[in-house]
Amino acid sequence: MDAKTRKIMTMNRMHHPKADIDRMYLPRSTGGRGLIQLELTFKTSTIGLDAYLTKTNDPLLQIVKQHDDKKKLYSIKKEAVKFKRELDYSEITPSDNEATTIYTKRVKKTAKTKGHEQLQKTWEDKVMHGKYPKRTKEADVDQLKTHQWLKNTGLKAETEGLIIAAQDQSLATRSFHHRIIKDGIDPQCRICGKYEETVDHIISGCPELAKTEYIHRHNKTAAYLHWKICRHYNIETTGEWYKHQPTTVTENDVVTILWDMPIHTDKEIKANRPDIIIKDKKDQRCILIDVSIPSERNTSIKVAEKLSKYKDLEIEISRMWSMKTETIPVVIGALGLVKKGLEKFIERIPGSISINLVQKIALLGTAHILRRILSIK
Ligand SMILES: [Zn+2]
Repeated sequence: MDAKTRKIMTMNRMHHPKADIDRMYLPRSTGGRGLIQLELTFKTSTIGLDAYLTKTNDPLLQIVKQHDDKKKLYSIKKEAVKFKRELDYSEITPSDNEATTIYTKRVKKTAKTKGHEQLQKTWEDKVMHGKYPKRTKEADVDQLKTHQWLKNTGLKAETEGLIIAAQDQSLATRSFHHRIIKDGIDPQCRICGKYEETVDHIISGCPELAKTEYIHRHNKTAAYLHWKICRHYNIETTGEWYKHQPTTVTENDVVTILWDMPIHTDKEIKANRPDIIIKDKKDQRCILIDVSIPSERNTSIKVAEKLSKYKDLEIEISRMWSMKTETIPVVIGALGLVKKGLEKFIERIPGSISINLVQKIALLGTAHILRRILSIK
């Protein structure tokens, strides 16, 4: 039944045939797809039933147990022992006056946790599929926010399946053909021809795509921030963020918002063009916002890079405009990775930005790039 379910999902383009199987049965909050694995459910139910029959005071059920224990094959007890061994389950003892049903629930829950731990480990131990879960467990990652897109973003199941397959490194890139399928295909990128065509290369490393596709994804994300900021300052905007077209200068009595505009300073500064500049005349403060959507691997260095990149501009602006100035980097992995600290940065941008939506826009952009490039023969 588990295999059949997966097959139906694959037929409906919701599950990539080469994407990870164990991952499908892990909770969405930890990066899985939250499907119920019937095999594991059968095991935990049997273990629970055995615990219930062992502990029950009901004389009729005790007779049932005596009868069942005598069965040569497939007795509940024998099956439970076998499944406990498979799940590496260690006995838990009932507490004083604990009702049998409550105890049984606890037993089942413990067995299920064990089962999930095993699935998690098998997933992480795989050479290709395991790269992503390992990255998300590193110290700089906000795991909860990183996996949030699986919980409430509302992406189509097909898009979700594509992003999952990309995270699993199981898409049919040229590198995948060359190294895994070994069908003699040249592993170099079909667009630039200069680098090996891995998932990472397509979604964030290709110098040719950087000129078009990445800019598009980046601008969509930055435009959402711009839209939110405009609304915060009561500047008229379109009703939906995705229709918003930022103008170079947006202004009212309180604020000037600059979009992708270089700042001319007395001293020459190279990095003088952050994505958005908010010049709040009332609060006498200035915020420089720069968005970046790097590969999951590069997210760690990007934040520090952005902060130092605009340091000179920050100093010049505070001097020229006599305003307290700060840089806010908005960095999100091309496959949705959220680093710890992003929440703190985003809170400082006026307009209550939703990290979840920023993540969704980045993921939609990435899905679009993957679909386009992988369909080019
Ligand atoms: Zn390329």
